[in-house]
Amino acid sequence: MARPLDPATREALVERVRFYRDLGLTEFYRRPVDPALIDQSLPLLSAESVGEQPASQPAQSQEDQPIPARRTFPAPPQIAAAVPPAERAAALQIIRDEIGDCTRCALHTGRNKLVFGDGSPAARLLFVGEGPGADEDAQGIPFVGKAGQLLNNMIAAMGLKREEVYIANVVKCRPPGNRTPEPDEANTCSPFLFRQIDAVRPEVLVALGATAATYLLGQRQPLAGLRGRVHSFRGTKLIVTYHPAYLLRDPRQKKEAWADLQIAMRELGLKAAAKD
Ligand code: SF4
Repeated sequence: MARPLDPATREALVERVRFYRDLGLTEFYRRPVDPALIDQSLPLLSAESVGEQPASQPAQSQEDQPIPARRTFPAPPQIAAAVPPAERAAALQIIRDEIGDCTRCALHTGRNKLVFGDGSPAARLLFVGEGPGADEDAQGIPFVGKAGQLLNNMIAAMGLKREEVYIANVVKCRPPGNRTPEPDEANTCSPFLFRQIDAVRPEVLVALGATAATYLLGQRQPLAGLRGRVHSFRGTKLIVTYHPAYLLRDPRQKKEAWADLQIAMRELGLKAAAKD
């Protein structure tokens, strides 16, 4: 008997189903459906299956197979040995202390909370966004608004938990009206991002949108010309994809974003694990 869901959880699950549907992933749910959970226009989903990695084969051909356990996401031994997770957390704290109550650029004047970063200090995958929005400015945490919910769904589609990755922005204070950070603002703040990346030492970076791509690559190019291949940021693999806020405005691009995330999964060796 399925447990009743509170409205917020139900809405989050329905939104995740929509996300998978938009990706074209509609045949990977194998458990009975709670009809109260979703409306008939959406693909089938049970609460238990949310967040599982999409299967590579249609559900009908795998009915007699056990449902795989959620994959863990440990750091490779050589990475863990080089920089122990406890030291990475301490390194991040040093960077946060150095930023302090920052007034280095004009963005500090409109800030409520400085948004440093969120996630695992030992993450193998690090997302870089542009800057905080209103929700992030209020909470001091990156990607917690609608775009954050979409990013959470993207992370879940990769078979990961949000707390297994690290998320940071090019600028740590909200630009007025959510405008794009000015070059002097981004150039003033981005060295802190670079140090965060050095501290976490991820194997793969994902730049969310043109601003993140511009300041990680050190050059401004149309996003279309940067997507679909692996770049390098100081020796770390870098994938460029759309910002979730853009995907909210143009959901047709979600399949393209999913293709980019699959490149990141391949680089992390996650594709083979998804077939367990
Ligand atoms: Fe300081 Fe960055 Fe905020 Fe500018 S955006 S005030 S550099 S923390």
